[in-house]
Amino acid sequence: MSFDVEAVRRQFPVLAQRPYGKRLAFLDSGATSQKPQSVIDAVTRFYDRDNSNVHRGVYDLAERATAAFEGARKKIARFIGAEPREVIFTRGTTEGVNLVAQSWGRASVGPGDEILVTGMEHHSNIVPWQLLAAEKGAKLVVVPVDDRGEVHLADFERLIGPRTRIVAVTQVSNVLGTVNPIREITRLAHARGVPVLVDGAQAVPHEKVDVRDLDADFYVFSGHKMFGPTGIGVLYGKAKILEAMPPWQGGGDMILSVSFEGTKFNTIPYKFEAGTPDAAGAVGLGAAVDWLEGLDREGARAHERDLLDHATRRLQELPGLRIIGTAPGKAPVISFVMEGVHPHDVGTILDHEGVAVRAGHHCAQPLMERFGVPATVRASMALYNTREDVDQLVQGLHRVREMFP
Ligand code: PMP
Repeated sequence: MSFDVEAVRRQFPVLAQRPYGKRLAFLDSGATSQKPQSVIDAVTRFYDRDNSNVHRGVYDLAERATAAFEGARKKIARFIGAEPREVIFTRGTTEGVNLVAQSWGRASVGPGDEILVTGMEHHSNIVPWQLLAAEKGAKLVVVPVDDRGEVHLADFERLIGPRTRIVAVTQVSNVLGTVNPIREITRLAHARGVPVLVDGAQAVPHEKVDVRDLDADFYVFSGHKMFGPTGIGVLYGKAKILEAMPPWQGGGDMILSVSFEGTKFNTIPYKFEAGTPDAAGAVGLGAAVDWLEGLDREGARAHERDLLDHATRRLQELPGLRIIGTAPGKAPVISFVMEGVHPHDVGTILDHEGVAVRAGHHCAQPLMERFGVPATVRASMALYNTREDVDQLVQGLHRVREMFP
Protein backbone atom coordinates (compact mmCIF):
# COMPACT_ATOMS: atom_id res chain seq x y z
CA MET A 1 0.00 0.00 0.00
CA SER A 2 1.41 3.38 -0.87
CA PHE A 3 -0.03 6.84 -0.51
CA ASP A 4 -1.60 8.15 -3.72
CA VAL A 5 -2.84 11.70 -3.26
CA GLU A 6 -4.75 11.81 -6.56
CA ALA A 7 -6.67 8.66 -5.64
CA VAL A 8 -7.40 10.22 -2.24
CA ARG A 9 -8.62 13.47 -3.82
CA ARG A 10 -11.07 11.64 -6.04
CA GLN A 11 -12.87 10.46 -2.92
CA PHE A 12 -13.66 14.04 -1.83
CA PRO A 13 -16.54 15.41 -3.94
CA VAL A 14 -16.18 18.95 -2.53
CA LEU A 15 -12.68 19.33 -3.93
CA ALA A 16 -13.88 19.08 -7.53
CA GLN A 17 -15.76 22.38 -7.54
CA ARG A 18 -14.50 25.58 -9.14
CA PRO A 19 -15.18 28.75 -7.14
CA TYR A 20 -15.16 31.84 -9.42
CA GLY A 21 -14.23 29.45 -12.22
CA LYS A 22 -10.92 28.70 -10.50
CA ARG A 23 -9.53 25.44 -9.23
CA LEU A 24 -10.35 25.11 -5.50
CA ALA A 25 -7.30 25.12 -3.25
CA PHE A 26 -8.85 24.21 0.10
CA LEU A 27 -6.34 25.21 2.77
CA ASP A 28 -8.60 25.46 5.80
CA SER A 29 -8.71 21.90 7.05
CA GLY A 30 -7.66 23.09 10.51
CA ALA A 31 -11.12 24.66 10.79
CA THR A 32 -12.87 21.61 9.41
CA SER A 33 -11.78 18.88 7.04
CA GLN A 34 -13.63 17.78 3.93
CA LYS A 35 -15.38 14.40 3.98
CA PRO A 36 -14.67 11.38 1.81
CA GLN A 37 -17.56 9.76 -0.04
CA SER A 38 -17.48 6.73 2.28
CA VAL A 39 -18.26 8.93 5.30
CA ILE A 40 -21.06 10.72 3.47
CA ASP A 41 -22.44 7.34 2.38
CA ALA A 42 -22.26 5.88 5.89
CA VAL A 43 -24.37 8.71 7.28
CA THR A 44 -26.88 8.45 4.43
CA ARG A 45 -27.04 4.68 4.78
CA PHE A 46 -27.78 4.98 8.49
CA TYR A 47 -30.78 7.21 7.77
CA ASP A 48 -31.83 5.13 4.76
CA ARG A 49 -31.72 1.79 6.47
CA ASP A 50 -30.93 1.70 10.19
CA ASN A 51 -32.42 4.82 11.75
CA SER A 52 -34.15 4.46 15.08
CA ASN A 53 -33.34 5.69 18.57
CA VAL A 54 -30.48 3.78 20.20
CA HIS A 55 -30.55 1.76 23.46
CA ARG A 56 -34.34 1.88 23.60
CA GLY A 57 -36.35 -0.21 21.20
CA VAL A 58 -36.65 -4.00 21.28
CA TYR A 59 -37.41 -4.27 17.57
CA ASP A 60 -35.01 -5.19 14.79
CA LEU A 61 -34.42 -1.65 13.52
CA ALA A 62 -33.61 -0.36 16.98
CA GLU A 63 -31.19 -3.19 17.52
CA ARG A 64 -29.45 -2.43 14.25
CA ALA A 65 -29.19 1.27 15.10
CA THR A 66 -27.74 0.42 18.51
CA ALA A 67 -25.31 -2.06 16.99
CA ALA A 68 -24.14 0.57 14.47
CA PHE A 69 -23.71 3.19 17.21
CA GLU A 70 -21.88 0.86 19.61
CA GLY A 71 -19.87 -0.57 16.72
CA ALA A 72 -18.63 2.96 16.00
CA ARG A 73 -17.61 3.34 19.64
CA LYS A 74 -15.58 0.14 19.44
CA LYS A 75 -13.83 1.28 16.26
CA ILE A 76 -12.94 4.62 17.76
CA ALA A 77 -11.72 2.98 20.97
CA ARG A 78 -9.41 0.71 18.98
CA PHE A 79 -8.26 3.65 16.86
CA ILE A 80 -6.95 5.53 19.93
CA GLY A 81 -5.92 2.52 22.01
CA ALA A 82 -8.74 2.78 24.57
CA GLU A 83 -11.51 0.54 25.89
CA PRO A 84 -14.99 1.21 24.48
CA ARG A 85 -16.32 2.22 27.92
CA GLU A 86 -13.64 4.94 28.02
CA VAL A 87 -15.02 6.55 24.85
CA ILE A 88 -17.73 9.12 25.54
CA PHE A 89 -19.49 10.65 22.57
CA THR A 90 -19.72 14.43 22.70
CA ARG A 91 -20.52 17.19 20.21
CA GLY A 92 -16.81 17.84 19.81
CA THR A 93 -13.65 19.01 21.50
CA THR A 94 -15.36 22.00 23.10
CA GLU A 95 -18.01 19.88 24.76
CA GLY A 96 -15.37 17.39 25.94
CA VAL A 97 -13.39 20.08 27.77
CA ASN A 98 -16.55 21.54 29.27
CA LEU A 99 -17.62 18.10 30.47
CA VAL A 100 -14.32 17.55 32.25
CA ALA A 101 -14.25 21.08 33.70
CA GLN A 102 -17.82 20.80 34.98
CA SER A 103 -17.84 17.21 36.21
CA TRP A 104 -14.28 16.40 37.26
CA GLY A 105 -13.38 20.05 37.85
CA ARG A 106 -16.25 21.01 40.14
CA ALA A 107 -15.55 17.96 42.27
CA SER A 108 -11.78 18.38 42.36
CA VAL A 109 -10.87 22.07 42.19
CA GLY A 110 -11.21 24.43 45.16
CA PRO A 111 -10.24 27.93 46.31
CA GLY A 112 -6.59 28.77 45.69
CA ASP A 113 -6.08 25.79 43.37
CA GLU A 114 -4.37 26.16 40.03
CA ILE A 115 -5.17 24.98 36.52
CA LEU A 116 -2.15 24.91 34.26
CA VAL A 117 -2.67 25.70 30.58
CA THR A 118 -0.27 26.87 27.87
CA GLY A 119 -0.15 30.17 26.02
CA MET A 120 -1.10 28.44 22.76
CA GLU A 121 -4.47 26.98 23.79
CA HIS A 122 -7.61 27.35 21.72
CA HIS A 123 -10.35 29.31 23.52
CA SER A 124 -12.14 26.01 24.10
CA ASN A 125 -9.27 24.90 26.35
CA ILE A 126 -9.17 28.22 28.20
CA VAL A 127 -12.70 29.50 28.78
CA PRO A 128 -14.21 26.34 30.37
CA TRP A 129 -11.35 26.46 32.90
CA GLN A 130 -11.89 30.17 33.50
CA LEU A 131 -15.57 29.51 34.23
CA LEU A 132 -14.59 26.81 36.69
CA ALA A 133 -11.89 28.99 38.27
CA ALA A 134 -14.33 31.88 38.72
CA GLU A 135 -16.85 29.60 40.41
CA LYS A 136 -14.30 27.98 42.70
CA GLY A 137 -11.89 30.82 43.44
CA ALA A 138 -9.13 29.00 41.60
CA LYS A 139 -6.79 30.49 39.01
CA LEU A 140 -5.26 29.75 35.64
CA VAL A 141 -1.48 29.56 35.39
CA VAL A 142 0.00 29.83 31.91
CA VAL A 143 3.06 28.09 30.50
CA PRO A 144 4.77 30.65 28.23
CA VAL A 145 5.34 30.19 24.51
CA ASP A 146 8.73 31.16 23.06
CA ASP A 147 9.44 33.06 19.83
CA ARG A 148 9.41 29.91 17.72
CA GLY A 149 6.08 28.88 19.21
CA GLU A 150 7.29 26.22 21.60
CA VAL A 151 6.72 25.46 25.25
CA HIS A 152 9.54 24.19 27.46
CA LEU A 153 9.47 21.26 29.84
CA ALA A 154 11.47 23.26 32.36
CA ASP A 155 8.53 25.67 32.57
CA PHE A 156 6.11 22.81 33.24
CA GLU A 157 8.52 21.58 35.90
CA ARG A 158 8.62 25.03 37.46
CA LEU A 159 4.89 25.75 37.22
CA ILE A 160 3.36 22.42 38.29
CA GLY A 161 3.17 23.15 42.00
CA PRO A 162 1.41 21.84 45.10
CA ARG A 163 -1.79 23.70 44.13
CA THR A 164 -1.92 22.46 40.53
CA ARG A 165 -5.01 20.30 40.07
CA ILE A 166 -4.84 19.64 36.33
CA VAL A 167 -2.69 20.37 33.29
CA ALA A 168 -4.74 21.15 30.15
CA VAL A 169 -2.61 21.24 27.03
CA THR A 170 -3.03 21.00 23.30
CA GLN A 171 -1.14 18.31 21.43
CA VAL A 172 -0.92 20.38 18.25
CA SER A 173 -1.46 24.14 18.04
CA ASN A 174 -4.15 25.14 15.54
CA VAL A 175 -2.31 28.39 14.85
CA LEU A 176 1.39 27.55 15.04
CA GLY A 177 1.35 23.88 14.12
CA THR A 178 3.64 23.19 17.08
CA VAL A 179 3.52 19.58 18.27
CA ASN A 180 3.89 19.50 22.05
CA PRO A 181 5.82 16.77 23.90
CA ILE A 182 2.75 15.20 25.51
CA ARG A 183 4.49 12.07 26.79
CA GLU A 184 7.05 14.12 28.67
CA ILE A 185 4.37 16.48 29.99
CA THR A 186 2.22 13.63 31.35
CA ARG A 187 5.31 12.07 32.93
CA LEU A 188 6.19 15.32 34.70
CA ALA A 189 2.63 15.95 35.83
CA HIS A 190 2.03 12.39 37.00
CA ALA A 191 5.23 12.43 39.02
CA ARG A 192 3.50 15.17 41.01
CA GLY A 193 0.13 13.40 41.10
CA VAL A 194 -1.49 15.82 38.64
CA PRO A 195 -3.78 14.57 35.82
CA VAL A 196 -3.49 15.84 32.25
CA LEU A 197 -6.17 16.71 29.71
CA VAL A 198 -4.95 16.71 26.12
CA ASP A 199 -6.72 18.65 23.37
CA GLY A 200 -6.19 16.37 20.39
CA ALA A 201 -8.38 18.30 17.92
CA GLN A 202 -5.48 19.10 15.57
CA ALA A 203 -3.50 15.93 16.23
CA VAL A 204 -5.85 13.09 15.23
CA PRO A 205 -6.11 14.15 11.56
CA HIS A 206 -2.33 13.98 11.16
CA GLU A 207 -0.83 11.33 13.37
CA LYS A 208 -1.55 8.00 14.96
CA VAL A 209 -2.63 8.63 18.53
CA ASP A 210 -2.39 6.08 21.33
CA VAL A 211 -3.87 7.45 24.54
CA ARG A 212 -2.20 4.77 26.66
CA ASP A 213 1.18 5.51 25.18
CA LEU A 214 0.64 9.25 25.77
CA ASP A 215 -0.68 8.35 29.23
CA ALA A 216 -3.29 11.11 28.95
CA ASP A 217 -5.93 11.07 31.66
CA PHE A 218 -8.38 12.81 29.33
CA TYR A 219 -8.10 13.16 25.56
CA VAL A 220 -10.62 15.18 23.54
CA PHE A 221 -11.14 15.57 19.80
CA SER A 222 -13.71 16.45 17.13
CA GLY A 223 -14.97 14.22 14.35
CA HIS A 224 -15.25 17.01 11.80
CA LYS A 225 -11.52 17.75 11.75
CA MET A 226 -10.63 14.12 11.06
CA PHE A 227 -12.77 13.59 7.94
CA GLY A 228 -15.90 12.73 9.97
CA PRO A 229 -19.19 14.60 10.36
CA THR A 230 -19.79 17.75 12.37
CA GLY A 231 -21.65 17.50 15.67
CA ILE A 232 -19.81 14.44 16.92
CA GLY A 233 -16.63 14.16 18.96
CA VAL A 234 -15.00 12.11 21.65
CA LEU A 235 -13.92 12.46 25.22
CA TYR A 236 -11.59 9.67 26.25
CA GLY A 237 -10.98 9.30 29.97
CA LYS A 238 -9.20 6.64 32.00
CA ALA A 239 -11.93 4.30 33.26
CA LYS A 240 -10.97 4.73 36.91
CA ILE A 241 -11.21 8.49 36.72
CA LEU A 242 -14.49 8.48 34.75
CA GLU A 243 -16.06 6.07 37.20
CA ALA A 244 -15.27 8.36 40.12
CA MET A 245 -16.62 11.47 38.37
CA PRO A 246 -20.14 12.77 39.01
CA PRO A 247 -22.49 12.99 36.01
CA TRP A 248 -22.58 16.24 34.08
CA GLN A 249 -25.90 16.56 32.27
CA GLY A 250 -28.92 14.68 33.57
CA GLY A 251 -31.56 13.02 31.46
CA GLY A 252 -32.43 9.84 29.64
CA ASP A 253 -29.87 7.08 29.03
CA MET A 254 -27.53 8.22 31.81
CA ILE A 255 -29.58 6.53 34.53
CA LEU A 256 -30.19 3.01 35.78
CA SER A 257 -33.32 3.93 37.72
CA VAL A 258 -35.09 7.13 38.66
CA SER A 259 -37.50 7.87 41.47
CA PHE A 260 -38.40 11.15 43.12
CA GLU A 261 -36.41 10.01 46.14
CA GLY A 262 -33.24 9.57 44.13
CA THR A 263 -31.60 8.37 40.95
CA LYS A 264 -29.08 5.65 40.28
CA PHE A 265 -26.70 6.57 37.52
CA ASN A 266 -25.70 4.35 34.64
CA THR A 267 -22.20 2.94 34.22
CA ILE A 268 -19.58 4.61 32.00
CA PRO A 269 -19.70 5.73 29.25
CA TYR A 270 -23.50 6.10 29.39
CA LYS A 271 -23.37 8.08 32.64
CA PHE A 272 -22.02 10.96 30.52
CA GLU A 273 -24.31 10.59 27.52
CA ALA A 274 -27.63 12.10 28.58
CA GLY A 275 -30.31 12.27 25.91
CA THR A 276 -30.53 10.96 22.36
CA PRO A 277 -27.03 10.93 20.90
CA ASP A 278 -25.98 11.84 17.37
CA ALA A 279 -26.04 8.21 16.29
CA ALA A 280 -25.66 8.98 12.58
CA GLY A 281 -22.71 11.22 13.42
CA ALA A 282 -21.08 8.45 15.45
CA VAL A 283 -21.56 6.04 12.57
CA GLY A 284 -20.02 8.62 10.23
CA LEU A 285 -17.07 9.02 12.57
CA GLY A 286 -16.65 5.24 12.63
CA ALA A 287 -16.55 5.36 8.83
CA ALA A 288 -13.88 8.10 9.00
CA VAL A 289 -11.80 5.81 11.22
CA ASP A 290 -12.20 2.98 8.71
CA TRP A 291 -11.22 5.34 5.92
CA LEU A 292 -8.10 6.57 7.74
CA GLU A 293 -7.08 3.04 8.68
CA GLY A 294 -7.36 2.03 5.03
CA LEU A 295 -4.66 4.55 4.09
CA ASP A 296 -0.91 4.30 4.21
CA ARG A 297 -0.69 6.66 7.17
CA GLU A 298 3.09 6.85 7.17
CA GLY A 299 2.93 7.75 3.49
CA ALA A 300 0.30 10.37 4.26
CA ARG A 301 2.53 11.87 6.95
CA ALA A 302 5.46 12.02 4.58
CA HIS A 303 3.21 13.71 2.02
CA GLU A 304 2.07 16.30 4.59
CA ARG A 305 5.67 16.95 5.60
CA ASP A 306 6.57 17.54 1.98
CA LEU A 307 3.67 20.00 1.62
CA LEU A 308 4.77 21.89 4.74
CA ASP A 309 8.39 22.10 3.56
CA HIS A 310 7.33 23.20 0.10
CA ALA A 311 4.94 25.82 1.49
CA THR A 312 7.50 27.14 4.00
CA ARG A 313 10.11 27.46 1.28
CA ARG A 314 7.81 29.13 -1.23
CA LEU A 315 6.23 31.57 1.21
CA GLN A 316 9.68 32.91 1.98
CA GLU A 317 9.81 34.23 -1.61
CA LEU A 318 7.30 36.90 -0.70
CA PRO A 319 8.67 40.19 0.57
CA GLY A 320 7.33 41.35 3.93
CA LEU A 321 5.81 37.99 4.81
CA ARG A 322 6.40 36.75 8.35
CA ILE A 323 5.64 33.19 9.37
CA ILE A 324 4.38 32.85 12.94
CA GLY A 325 5.31 29.50 14.45
CA THR A 326 8.59 27.99 13.35
CA ALA A 327 8.99 25.06 15.72
CA PRO A 328 10.77 22.03 14.28
CA GLY A 329 8.56 19.03 13.52
CA LYS A 330 5.43 21.11 13.01
CA ALA A 331 2.07 19.85 11.78
CA PRO A 332 1.18 21.16 8.29
CA VAL A 333 -0.17 24.52 9.45
CA ILE A 334 1.33 27.87 8.49
CA SER A 335 0.22 31.13 10.01
CA PHE A 336 1.61 34.33 8.60
CA VAL A 337 1.16 38.06 8.32
CA MET A 338 2.03 40.34 5.41
CA GLU A 339 3.43 43.76 6.06
CA GLY A 340 0.96 46.50 5.22
CA VAL A 341 -2.04 44.23 4.52
CA HIS A 342 -4.72 43.17 6.94
CA PRO A 343 -5.15 39.37 7.09
CA HIS A 344 -8.83 39.74 6.19
CA ASP A 345 -7.89 41.53 2.97
CA VAL A 346 -5.41 38.75 2.19
CA GLY A 347 -8.16 36.19 2.78
CA THR A 348 -10.64 38.00 0.54
CA ILE A 349 -8.20 38.41 -2.33
CA LEU A 350 -7.15 34.77 -2.07
CA ASP A 351 -10.80 33.71 -2.09
CA HIS A 352 -11.19 35.24 -5.55
CA GLU A 353 -8.22 33.18 -6.68
CA GLY A 354 -9.97 29.99 -5.54
CA VAL A 355 -7.83 29.71 -2.39
CA ALA A 356 -9.68 29.06 0.88
CA VAL A 357 -7.66 30.08 3.92
CA ARG A 358 -8.63 31.27 7.37
CA ALA A 359 -8.00 34.87 8.42
CA GLY A 360 -8.58 35.94 11.99
CA HIS A 361 -7.54 35.20 15.55
CA HIS A 362 -8.28 31.46 15.20
CA CYS A 363 -9.94 31.35 18.63
CA ALA A 364 -6.54 31.93 20.20
CA GLN A 365 -6.52 35.61 21.13
CA PRO A 366 -3.96 35.26 23.95
CA LEU A 367 -1.56 33.73 21.42
CA MET A 368 -2.16 36.60 18.97
CA GLU A 369 -1.27 38.99 21.77
CA ARG A 370 1.88 37.00 22.53
CA PHE A 371 3.06 37.49 18.95
CA GLY A 372 1.89 41.11 18.81
CA VAL A 373 -0.59 40.66 15.95
CA PRO A 374 -4.39 41.07 15.93
CA ALA A 375 -4.86 38.25 13.46
CA THR A 376 -3.03 36.03 11.00
CA VAL A 377 -3.69 34.30 7.73
CA ARG A 378 -3.60 30.55 8.23
CA ALA A 379 -3.09 27.90 5.59
CA SER A 380 -3.78 24.51 7.15
CA MET A 381 -3.21 21.45 5.05
CA ALA A 382 -4.57 17.93 5.07
CA LEU A 383 -3.47 14.76 3.34
CA TYR A 384 -5.63 15.59 0.28
CA ASN A 385 -3.72 18.78 -0.49
CA THR A 386 -1.06 18.98 -3.17
CA ARG A 387 1.88 21.15 -4.09
CA GLU A 388 -0.43 22.67 -6.68
CA ASP A 389 -2.64 24.00 -3.85
CA VAL A 390 0.42 25.57 -2.25
CA ASP A 391 1.57 27.09 -5.55
CA GLN A 392 -1.90 28.51 -6.11
CA LEU A 393 -1.68 30.10 -2.64
CA VAL A 394 1.71 31.62 -3.43
CA GLN A 395 0.46 32.92 -6.78
CA GLY A 396 -2.52 34.49 -4.96
CA LEU A 397 -0.17 36.12 -2.48
CA HIS A 398 1.86 37.64 -5.31
CA ARG A 399 -1.43 39.13 -6.50
CA VAL A 400 -2.00 40.53 -2.97
CA ARG A 401 1.46 42.15 -3.14
CA GLU A 402 0.61 43.73 -6.48
CA MET A 403 -2.51 45.24 -4.94
CA PHE A 404 -0.72 46.32 -1.74
CA PRO A 405 2.78 47.16 -2.96
N1 PMP B 1 -8.94 22.86 20.07
C1 PMP B 1 -8.25 23.10 18.95
C2 PMP B 1 -6.75 23.00 18.98
C3 PMP B 1 -8.92 23.43 17.79
O1 PMP B 1 -8.25 23.68 16.66
C4 PMP B 1 -10.34 23.51 17.80
C5 PMP B 1 -11.13 23.89 16.56
N2 PMP B 1 -10.62 25.01 15.87
C6 PMP B 1 -11.00 23.24 18.98
C7 PMP B 1 -10.27 22.92 20.09
C8 PMP B 1 -12.49 23.30 19.09
O2 PMP B 1 -13.07 22.27 18.37
P1 PMP B 1 -14.63 22.20 18.13
O3 PMP B 1 -15.04 23.56 17.63
O4 PMP B 1 -14.80 21.14 17.12
O5 PMP B 1 -15.27 21.87 19.44
